[in-house]
Amino acid sequence: MSQDAEFYFPAPRLQKFCSQCATPITRRIPPGDNRERDLCERCGAVHYQNPRLVVGTMPVWEDKVLLCLRAIEPRANFWTLPAGFMELAETLSEGAARETQEEAGVKIKLGGLYTVIDIPHVDQVHVYFLAQALGPELDPGPETLEARWYGFDEIPWDNLAFKSVYTTLKHYLSDRESGEFPTHHYALGGPKH
Ligand SMILES: [Zn+2]
Repeated sequence: MSQDAEFYFPAPRLQKFCSQCATPITRRIPPGDNRERDLCERCGAVHYQNPRLVVGTMPVWEDKVLLCLRAIEPRANFWTLPAGFMELAETLSEGAARETQEEAGVKIKLGGLYTVIDIPHVDQVHVYFLAQALGPELDPGPETLEARWYGFDEIPWDNLAFKSVYTTLKHYLSDRESGEFPTHHYALGGPKH
C-alpha cells in the first residue's frame, strides 16, 4: 500500500481563543495536572482535548464488500469503508449505521463489533462493525463520488484512503477462511505529534 495511506482524518490540536471569553489561549501545565493544556489566563477555563472516535461499517452483499470513493479531503479520490466522526448523543452502533446511510445509502443489518483500532499519533480510535446489506441498492451522499461493490479479489489495495480500512479488510479476508469473525483490537503506529 502507498505511503499516502498513512493519512487520517484531520485532528486539529490547538485552539487559539478561549471559547468562554475569547481571550487568546495559553498552553501550559495547570496546577495539579501533569501535562500541557490549553487554558485561559483571564477566566481560568481549561480546554481539555481528548481522542476522537471514527465509527463505520464493513457492509457485505453476497460475496462483495462495499467501498466508497471519497469526494472530500483528506484522501479525496481514494476508497474507504463508510465511516466518520461519532456525533454527540449517539451510540457507537447508531453512529456506524448513520455514517453508512449518509455515505452509501445502503440498507444494512448491523453485525458485531469487528475492529477497534487505536491510532494514538493522530489522537483517534477507529471502530468498524460487521454489516450485512439487505440489498445491493446504493444511494451515495455528497461526501461520496461513487459507491460500489467490490469482489474480495478486486479490492483496490493501492487506492485505499486509510490504513484502518486496509487492516480491517485484511482481517476480514483472513477470517473468511475460518468462518469466524472475532473482534480485533490493535494499534497503528506512526510518528508522535
Ligand atoms: Zn477565558
